[in-house]
Amino acid sequence: MTKTVLKKQSQFRSQHVFHKGFSDSVPPQNLRQARFSGPVDRRQTINRVAEATPPRDANVGAGLWATLAATVSSLPLSKRIAILGSTGSIGCAAVDVIEHLGPPYRAVALSGHSNCDALIAQAKKLRPEIVAVTAECDRAAIEDQLHHLGCETFFGPTALTEIATHPDVDAVLSAVVGAAGLPAAIATVRAGKPLLLANKESLVVAGEILMREAHITAAPILPVDSEHSAVFQAMQSGRRNEIRRVILTASGGPFRNWPADKIESATPADALKHPVWQMGSKITIDSATMFNKAAEILEAIWLFGLEPQQVEVVIHPESVVHSMVEFCDGSTIAQLSPPNMRLPIQYAMTYPERCGGCGPRLDLTKSFSLNFQPPDFERFPALRIAFDVARRGGTLGAVMNAANEVAVEAFLRGRTSFGSIARTVEETIARHTIVQKPALSDLLAADHWARAEAAKLLTDAAETEKLTGATAK
Ligand code: NAD
Ligand code: MG
Repeated sequence: MTKTVLKKQSQFRSQHVFHKGFSDSVPPQNLRQARFSGPVDRRQTINRVAEATPPRDANVGAGLWATLAATVSSLPLSKRIAILGSTGSIGCAAVDVIEHLGPPYRAVALSGHSNCDALIAQAKKLRPEIVAVTAECDRAAIEDQLHHLGCETFFGPTALTEIATHPDVDAVLSAVVGAAGLPAAIATVRAGKPLLLANKESLVVAGEILMREAHITAAPILPVDSEHSAVFQAMQSGRRNEIRRVILTASGGPFRNWPADKIESATPADALKHPVWQMGSKITIDSATMFNKAAEILEAIWLFGLEPQQVEVVIHPESVVHSMVEFCDGSTIAQLSPPNMRLPIQYAMTYPERCGGCGPRLDLTKSFSLNFQPPDFERFPALRIAFDVARRGGTLGAVMNAANEVAVEAFLRGRTSFGSIARTVEETIARHTIVQKPALSDLLAADHWARAEAAKLLTDAAETEKLTGATAK
């Protein structure tokens, strides 16, 4: 353990919205040029992938291919990884993967929001160099517990960007939930570091800006989301301009077979019972409304530089086929594995190499079936909303995300019905005046506006629901 500094912490400010974490630029001493330090065969592997998938043009529309092509020979081998949101579902799985991989992979920085006990336990076990708490907390008590570990501590909403730009951090895995992850995602790519992205909200809110910033510094953005990892893996079977469409699979969530009127009044307990995945509460509710798939549609468009009409969704209850890519000749390439996030997390960490995994494997000696069916846009309006947002663009991604975050929180607190979530998002979008080609400040303003507007709509809906007795208990 090298550091013994206990940093003077910045004043805590509310992290409910992501405005506070931004700084306009990265201090030059923290800017780190991505460098090649791996063996020759590794560089050749990366080169082959890039050559097979040349970007059509050197702009943001080329998506992830542009950044990977630009960094083919520069992915750092030493993997001193910061795990933002290490106490969550993805964060804990990422810790497991790093422990499984062993050196040179190391969790050098950990962050948690409010679950300080879990964070401290992780720190004691993993001995990271940096620990950050983003929610309001008893700083002195936390420092007291961490002091003997000699780690640097950061507190408050700017903590994640400080970690992202820290010179001891090679790569950042963002497993924070919500738009709160955006400032650190932008700081990571501005610093030219690989961003291993689970926090899909960053791309939903500011996909164009994030990809553009990554392109400028040649920072690779590697998908952690299982569908996008599957697409990324399948895409390597052809050239980028040979891709006809991307088919995202969706489990359908707990209400896949429920009739519309039953979905309308589903309770938080119903919605938190996901049939396949164990995840954080926000993404579990998003899976029930299908706003998770809605977010993933936008995530795929930005990450891979696709047109909205090139993305399709298919319901696949078994969640074994994680997504597919159809090429121009009619060949469809799928990625299959049991539903477990350790594989996509590991692939993002070890890309372009593969090594022994710590997750379960498919047992093809047992008979099983894989089912596919078209999604129902009526019972799950989130999908329709997402394609509309994707086509109209501008600030609408930020508005969709913010309104959904507010509505999900209200639902989890029993303050609104399940059906109100999609209605609130749709109505907030309908009331928004779109800013096309938004700057970051426009997106922040849209996020701020949408949260207030959605809260207002929910208060009105709660009044109506009280009158009709419709709110879920
Ligand atoms: P989670 O709720 O289990 O964990 C969230 C983490 O973020 C925790 O460490 C929490 O302390 C931290 N956090 C919460 N609010 C914060 C804030 N305002 N500022 C900073 N940190 C905050 O969530 P999860 O299921 O691990 O999901 C994390 C992200 O990964 C989400 O964007 C989700 O959509 C995405 N994702 C999750 C899964 C999954 O299987 N869980 C799969 C794909 C993508
Ligand atoms: Mg997913």
